[in-house]
Amino acid sequence: MHNDIDHVLLHESTIMSRLDAMARDITRDYQGEMPTIVCILQGGIILMADLLRRIQLPLLIETISVASYHGGTLSSGVVSFKQNALPDLKGKHVILLDDILDTGRTLEAIRDRFVNEAGAASVKLCVLLSKKKDRPCEVVAEYVGFEIGDEFVVGYGLDYQGQYRNLPYIGVLKPEAIQRLA
Ligand code: 5GP
Ligand code: MG
Repeated sequence: MHNDIDHVLLHESTIMSRLDAMARDITRDYQGEMPTIVCILQGGIILMADLLRRIQLPLLIETISVASYHGGTLSSGVVSFKQNALPDLKGKHVILLDDILDTGRTLEAIRDRFVNEAGAASVKLCVLLSKKKDRPCEVVAEYVGFEIGDEFVVGYGLDYQGQYRNLPYIGVLKPEAIQRLA
């Protein structure tokens, strides 16, 4: 698994100290509230586990499952919800967690449904990574761990063909690993 990595972009210790700071910001911003954290499966699960244990607030946890990449290394642009029912978010202050903001279509589609269909009182976006690029939609995440270049990364929740999510760091795959699993 580690042999397939060309280089590490963000080491585990770097990610952990950034999560400390993000959790402090969230704790400060939601003082007196009980936010509902909605984790986007599967990519957001590692971030959820590590970030939530640092937040010093009462909170609720929900998950939602969507797909937009369908296995490759380029965003398909189509967001499919794997379930019709949305979590109960009526009047709730929601923090939507995902691994990465790429085109922004996934987070935009979910946020729209949370506000318009589920009746959330507010929805803020929190991602570990945000790719520096021109996005087709105007999506800004309120909480961003790191800005990275426009390249395909794996680890810390992010997969290629379902693998590499359990790498404790963020890395870039060797071209031969991409070809082997394609
Ligand atoms: P978006 O809708 O913003 O284009 O991308 C949404 C999803 O695409 C992310 O939640 C993530 O699952 C996947 N994705 C985007 N960029 C990358 C990347 O560099 N690596 C991996 N493994 N997945 C990515
Ligand atoms: Mg994802």
